[in-house]
Amino acid sequence: MHNLREFEVWFITGSQHLYGDEILKQVDSDSKRIAAFLDASETIPCRVVFKPVVKTPDEIQNVCVEANSSPDCAGLITWMHTFSPAKMWIAGLSLLNKPFAHLHTQFNRDIPWDQIDMNFMNLNQSAHGGREFGFICSRLRKDRKVIVGHWQDEAVLKALDTWMRAACAWSDWQGMKVARFGDNMREVAVTEGDKVEAQKQFGYSVNGYGVGDLVDAVNQVRNDQIDALVAEYRSLYSIDISEAQSETVRQAARIEAGMRHFLTAGGFKAFTTTFEDLHGLAQLPGLAAQRLMADGYGFGAEGDWKTAALVRAMKVMAAGMKGGTSFMEDYTYHLDPSDMKVLGAHMLEVCPTLAGDKPMLEVHPLGIGGKADPARLVFCAPEGRGINVSLMDMGNRFRMIANPCRVVAPNAPLPNLPVARVLWKPEPDLKTAAAAWIIGGGAHHTGFSMALTKEHIADFAEIAGIEYLLIDEDTTIPGLKKDIRINEMYYALATGLK
Ligand code: MN
Repeated sequence: MHNLREFEVWFITGSQHLYGDEILKQVDSDSKRIAAFLDASETIPCRVVFKPVVKTPDEIQNVCVEANSSPDCAGLITWMHTFSPAKMWIAGLSLLNKPFAHLHTQFNRDIPWDQIDMNFMNLNQSAHGGREFGFICSRLRKDRKVIVGHWQDEAVLKALDTWMRAACAWSDWQGMKVARFGDNMREVAVTEGDKVEAQKQFGYSVNGYGVGDLVDAVNQVRNDQIDALVAEYRSLYSIDISEAQSETVRQAARIEAGMRHFLTAGGFKAFTTTFEDLHGLAQLPGLAAQRLMADGYGFGAEGDWKTAALVRAMKVMAAGMKGGTSFMEDYTYHLDPSDMKVLGAHMLEVCPTLAGDKPMLEVHPLGIGGKADPARLVFCAPEGRGINVSLMDMGNRFRMIANPCRVVAPNAPLPNLPVARVLWKPEPDLKTAAAAWIIGGGAHHTGFSMALTKEHIADFAEIAGIEYLLIDEDTTIPGLKKDIRINEMYYALATGLK
């Protein structure tokens, strides 16, 4: 799984030479203390690295260039301890291509009422230093997160945590390779898209591989590798298979081992399969997709590379958090007007990080694809908060839609449903949420998480520079339609400017 301590966020403090060396020494030591505090905080997922206080245009430009070229640097936290005249920031910010959060904080939490003098005022000028910095960011049209409050306040740390997770996922996307085994499911629209535009916008590349190359890797798997995987299955899952089906499970293990080898050797972080292109594979890789997702790979079925990349990003964002993250599909509805909800599942491929109890390993027929009965893990998600996220190519832009939900228990056992499943009630209610999702063009495939919140997704969409539609308890259909019309105009103009 992912370790966000592999990522650095640089702590950059702005000042100037106007105040003399004594004040600058104080600024320097205060900044070091804040950076060290953040780095040590249990709430903060990344390393926070102090960088020397910047006081001139050259120093600012140099640190921005250094950040751009550092592969470990996922983003910057900027703080204006004193006033930092912001024309000094134009060159650096114009060059900067890493995300940044403006921490609008102050070293002292409280005004020292009986001691405050002009020395204190000159040292602690964030209230107006932050505004000067904010103006130039807005003037340069730089998207960034602004976080206000004292740096030891838990709400501030949580906001930084959320933004850092999004910045790490973005960093992980840069240079990421997505492997497609076969092409798209034929005639399906929403899973298609412009892979060149995606690489330009998102930084990851998507390339196709003949399923025969995967079959080669699968055929090279040794019996002892299969034995080891089957032993692992027996230790992790309840196994409910007949003697005759044990060979099917061994075939699934063979596919998993071959796929792992292919993905590791090629340095891939996400992949897609399609049931329409399985030539030479004994069965659809269901168990393999489930277990690779559990190890942090992004996955999309039916060639859905946008969702595969999205699931990867959501898994990086959710690293170390409670609750699973998976590829998902809105499958079928419960339309009782007093209790409307969605049953989410897929043919096979739901990530077992979502399992409430020990998953069952089972073998059942699959109605489509014309291959042998595939092995799969069957389980139910526990109750709790969840979110569905979708990414679509709208022709002139990418759109992300997010919809928080409440995961609920099934009304009764589902003894004949041989797939992993999640039952949820979307915000604000199913009627509004489904209508809004459909009006927004949201896909049937999603990234689904019981760890992430709408704040993570909003931060990620902003860093990615794409359209973001949120469907939550404040959503109304007329309001959403108005947002979409305004966005159409905005992106038509913005596209014309690039
Ligand atoms: Mn599907």
